Amino acid sequence: MTQYAVMGDPISHSKSPQIHSLFAEQTGEDMHYDKFQIAAADFSAEVAGFFERGGGGLNVTVPHKEAAFALADYPSPRASLARAANTLGRDPEGGIWADNTDGVGLVRDLTDNHQLSLSGKHILMLGAGGAARGVLAELIHCAPASITIMNRTLSRAEELRTDLAAQGVMHVRAMNEPGGPRYDLVINGTSASLKNEGLQLDAALFAANFVAYDMMYGAEETDFMSWATAAGAGASLDGLGMLVEQAAESFALWRGKRPETQRVIDQIRQSL
Ligand code: NDP
Repeated sequence: MTQYAVMGDPISHSKSPQIHSLFAEQTGEDMHYDKFQIAAADFSAEVAGFFERGGGGLNVTVPHKEAAFALADYPSPRASLARAANTLGRDPEGGIWADNTDGVGLVRDLTDNHQLSLSGKHILMLGAGGAARGVLAELIHCAPASITIMNRTLSRAEELRTDLAAQGVMHVRAMNEPGGPRYDLVINGTSASLKNEGLQLDAALFAANFVAYDMMYGAEETDFMSWATAAGAGASLDGLGMLVEQAAESFALWRGKRPETQRVIDQIRQSL
């Protein structure tokens, strides 16, 4: 039986073991998936030890995604663009490869699960941290009319735009800055909901029936989703589908099989 795991700090909340167990059951793969709380100072040694013991692959979550990218011998192009990795594996010669499946996870959730077309849409990304960095290139590849990043710290958004400039044009605006297009889709990639700090967005920024997507998820609607509904959103979605889709992409990279995700999303939602 091959061992897999997720490493993070904190990690107790992680749904990844449940998700991957459901994938393994569904596809008949002989694997076991754990979660390990690992301090930043121990991360590199723990990764090396895991693979030396024959581990098949790792997922990596906050705060280790940048360290995971840095230690890889073979980072994928999408991990290199994000300068962060959420998936590690070992190649036959013993080197460690790294990938970032967050962007494809978000786009699959939006386009496959929620049947949204991103082409020709005006997209607003809130936040310029690791989550935003991991998904923007994938969003650009969906040919939207525009992508605008708004972030509390403007310089961080500007840095992100510069780093991803070769992928396509992105705009940067201060929070609630008027004058841009009316946004069709707004993605909350900030950690404001985690800290119960409302974003206080101006509803005038958005097109009629806009779609709001919160990368956060939970048993209850997030504050951002409730705000969006009150502001006239046509749909207000959470990030559980993204979580399951990024896991499915990791699973496919490790095992060469793509699990069916909708049933797993439903099962995990019932367990929240
Ligand atoms: P980071 O710490 O890297 O970035 C946090 C971002 O949130 C920054 O842009 C920060 O702005 C902004 N922010 C924090 N507090 C506030 C506030 N009160 N008002 C406005 N902006 C604020 O975090 P990550 O990017 O790694 O994660 C962001 C969110 O995405 C988390 O909630 C995480 O759980 C979620 N996520 C979900 C995934 C999924 O699969 N569903 C995958 C990955 C992440 P500033 O630069 O000014 O500090």
